Amino acid sequence: MLKRAIELQDKLVAYRHDFHKFPEVGFTEFRTSAKVVEVLTALGCKVRKNVGKTGVVAELGEGQPIIAIRADMDALPLKEDNQVEYTSQNPGVMHACGHDAHTAILLGVAEILSNEEHLPGTVRFLVQPAEEVADEEGFSGAQRMIQDGAMQGGVGIALALHVSAHVPVGQISISSGPASGGVDTFRAAVLGMGGHGARPHETVDPIFLAAYVILALNGIVSRRLNPYDPAVVSVGSIHAGNADNVIPNQVDILGTIRYMEPGVQKQIHKEIKKAFEVAKSLGGDYKLKFEFGTPPMINDPKVVKLIKQTASDLIGSENIVPPQAGLGAEDFGCFSELAPGAMFSLGSKVEGDEREHHNSRFDVNDACLPYGVAILAETALRYLRSGGVLIN
Ligand SMILES: [Zn+2]
Ligand SMILES: [Zn+2]
Repeated sequence: MLKRAIELQDKLVAYRHDFHKFPEVGFTEFRTSAKVVEVLTALGCKVRKNVGKTGVVAELGEGQPIIAIRADMDALPLKEDNQVEYTSQNPGVMHACGHDAHTAILLGVAEILSNEEHLPGTVRFLVQPAEEVADEEGFSGAQRMIQDGAMQGGVGIALALHVSAHVPVGQISISSGPASGGVDTFRAAVLGMGGHGARPHETVDPIFLAAYVILALNGIVSRRLNPYDPAVVSVGSIHAGNADNVIPNQVDILGTIRYMEPGVQKQIHKEIKKAFEVAKSLGGDYKLKFEFGTPPMINDPKVVKLIKQTASDLIGSENIVPPQAGLGAEDFGCFSELAPGAMFSLGSKVEGDEREHHNSRFDVNDACLPYGVAILAETALRYLRSGGVLIN
């Protein structure tokens, strides 16, 4: 299988560079999506387009079991600083997370599986928009695709990969259980009563109140949560006032919450509310709203076992390394909430250089592409051939 994937390398690189050159941010992946539709249709897939706005669902084979393989297509609003033949031609937009590689790999998997004589079941490709962002109603690409029926019909398991700038090419990392954090947003305002900067005693200064609120917010993880529960509360935006001598009426505060356990999520929401109550006891008031984002991504132990077994046959068990823990969000968690699923990190490190994700110099080592194709394609085949039976 690895040999078959390596034979596709020129095509995979061409796909990846093409997507990289013309990046599109979440829910505007019109060109990328059209290209995906074109390739998958030519490979003989049954294709449904505009699923969750710009998403694509495509199937090979028919009947049960069904395995879903997911890739994301969106880029980031970032100016690229790399000078390569495939540097972004869309000003201020860049594939700085490697989703160009994910989409290219998915097309490679489709090509290999389309050449199989007989597929004992269905491979469903989920090519999603907007992994990095939510729309105006707060839904990300995976959530929009699910609302449009992308997971209907009894999906047995769901697979995905994410390139990793920290793992060398030829290696993957994966583990069972929580693999990325759940994320919520809080939007708040500390309310006071503005007035003259020289007469603070006649005002209720919301900036002064907000200072206490922010201290309390930063105490949640360190003082209120169990130290064994991973979580983050970060204030990322704070705005108030326009003049040196005017005390404003309110301070707007925007922050992010990360967690692994639903119970911790609940507790954090409660503690954030308590932190804002400080504004009340100091004479002011507040408004607070939570926006629910994506859930934590939990890797199913049986699916992880299948991927590990397959990968160790292809690349050797010594090349499966433990993952770096983190609370980054990944909306594949929305799919793996509906079917046992797992995502692995595919080593894509550019040797001798720091190419951090979401950085203007991020890049993917193209040599990683066939490894991703081979592991996904082989895992899918083994699952279908097993009749959808997962071994403990
Ligand atoms: Zn990202
Ligand atoms: Zn990403």
